[in-house]
Amino acid sequence: MTSHKLNTFLEKNLTELKENGLYNEIDTLEGPNGSEITINGQTLINMSSNNYLGFANDTRLKEKANAATDKFGVGAGAVRTINGTQSIHDELEAKIADFKQTEAAVAFQSGFNCNMGAISAVMNKKDAILSDELNHASIIDGCRLSGAKVIRVKHQDMDDLRAKAKETIESGQYDKVMYITDGVFSMDGDVANLPDIVKIAEEFDLITYVDDAHGSGVMGKGAGTVKHYGLQDKIDFQMGTLSKAVGVVGGYVAGTQNLIDWLKVRARPFLFSTSLTPGAAAACIEAIDIMSASTEEHDRLWENGHYLKEGLNKLGFNIGNSETPITPCIIGDEKLTQLFSKRLTEEGVYAKSIVFPTVPKSTGRVRNMPSAAHTKEQLDQVLATYKKVGNELNVI
Ligand SMILES: *Cc1c(COP(=O)(O)O)cnc(C)c1O
Repeated sequence: MTSHKLNTFLEKNLTELKENGLYNEIDTLEGPNGSEITINGQTLINMSSNNYLGFANDTRLKEKANAATDKFGVGAGAVRTINGTQSIHDELEAKIADFKQTEAAVAFQSGFNCNMGAISAVMNKKDAILSDELNHASIIDGCRLSGAKVIRVKHQDMDDLRAKAKETIESGQYDKVMYITDGVFSMDGDVANLPDIVKIAEEFDLITYVDDAHGSGVMGKGAGTVKHYGLQDKIDFQMGTLSKAVGVVGGYVAGTQNLIDWLKVRARPFLFSTSLTPGAAAACIEAIDIMSASTEEHDRLWENGHYLKEGLNKLGFNIGNSETPITPCIIGDEKLTQLFSKRLTEEGVYAKSIVFPTVPKSTGRVRNMPSAAHTKEQLDQVLATYKKVGNELNVI
């Protein structure tokens, strides 16, 4: 017998989501997540992955992953602090620190648990965190978990940040105060104004934490948004993922040796969850080596991003204010957004709809993620399909 209360709860809420067009159906890929994907036997141009540089299925990374698996095994066998630290993990962390130009770095099993662990390792209930209102869910959860007072700051509003920083500091109620922001905002593609953030942080002695999940590999010739602005010495936490442009899985914080030493004794996912697999660590190292040696993939990513944006803009779509390859097509109504995405799929283009609660109500969008792996022919086909479906559904 299963719980009657639980079953009633699930039935009611699932029905409600489906009726409101807010229920997300999961599509299963029958092969790698490349510029083309196969779902239910149908081959589609893929405009929805975070695989910015095409590394997720890159032969060079796969070879390194296989070699490391042969040498170190499929699993690390323990958490990092027992005996799950293998030389490949140390090598990865040294590589990240070098790439980010910081004293040290610590790797986690995912970006999500990195935020859960790193924020709460440093902040506690005597502290306050100023947080951009559009920050990623993992930041929101990490802040909550820390027990610190969370103060939402209007999106990219430096006057609001300054006013709230001043008020928070002058209240004398808090021990430490942090400002936390995405480096690149994943739903809109805008870039955090780090130069002004650093000025405000210096004025009020704020701890700065930049989640560069969508900036790493994309901004700063690959090294991220902090590097893009040349602020490596001014940002306390350079957090990022190994799951997006790097193409594998994992998360990290790069910073001072003291910060990393502390995270390695206090960040709970580091202490209580088994390390990254050796194969994943080796593939990440290879990705960073490739990015350090050449900007070929990075340059192609940006070229493709510009090409797609220009094309959609000319067709009359609202593509928002993205400053990066992330290209949202803002449609508004949730049901229409989902229908739009469904029609694109039927026509051979996989571009996922993103609706409330991932983005605010009535800002439903189809989000396009061009990558270095896309060809011009694929992007032209995407544009032709958008034109057809846009006309059909009276969006343009
Ligand atoms: C994707 C993302 C994460 C989570 O990273 P994973 O490695 O996928 O767990 C964290 N923060 C931001 C801003 C993200 O976009």
